[in-house]
Amino acid sequence: MIQDISEVLFDEATILHRLDTLARKISAEYEGKDLTVVALLTGSVIFMADLLRRIPLPLQVDCLAVSSYHGTQSKGTVTFRQTPVADLSNRHVLILDDILDTGITLRTVLDHFAKDKTILSLKSCVLLRKLIEQPRKAEADFVAFDIPNAFVVGYGLDYNERYRNLPLVGVLSPEAITRYAKE
Ligand code: 5GP
Ligand code: MG
Repeated sequence: MIQDISEVLFDEATILHRLDTLARKISAEYEGKDLTVVALLTGSVIFMADLLRRIPLPLQVDCLAVSSYHGTQSKGTVTFRQTPVADLSNRHVLILDDILDTGITLRTVLDHFAKDKTILSLKSCVLLRKLIEQPRKAEADFVAFDIPNAFVVGYGLDYNERYRNLPLVGVLSPEAITRYAKE
């Protein structure tokens, strides 16, 4: 797997060190508040596991399955494959996602939860934020790393379901993109 990475952006130690700082910020924000973290599947699972273990608050966790990417391109339409079951009334909600690109996914998810007027607050947190030219549809409240506009994999992020278990974030080589392209 690692031979398909043309550039390592963040190794595991760098990611975990950054998550220590991010977790302290999130803990300070939600201290004494009823927090439910909603993680977007599947890309945010590794991020969720490492981040939440660093937050010493009595939070609840839920997951929402969404998809918007096919191969290396955002489709522009977001599909909900499953909605959370937990009751979010009188709770503060923090959405977790792996990467913020066009912001279409986050915008769709934020709009979905904004309809629930019983939620006390709604914020978002992403591991990666891509630097792109055009304005984004949504911004995140907490960001671990800014990255260049390249297609990255690892630490939960996939290319056609590969590479999620790579313990780093790296740029996928053009050869691997061609090799594992869907027919
Ligand atoms: P957006 O809706 O902001 O354009 O894209 C967000 C979603 O697209 C993310 O949740 C992620 O699944 C996927 N995505 C965006 N950029 C990348 C990337 O560079 N690599 C991978 N593997 N997925 C990406
Ligand atoms: Mg995703």
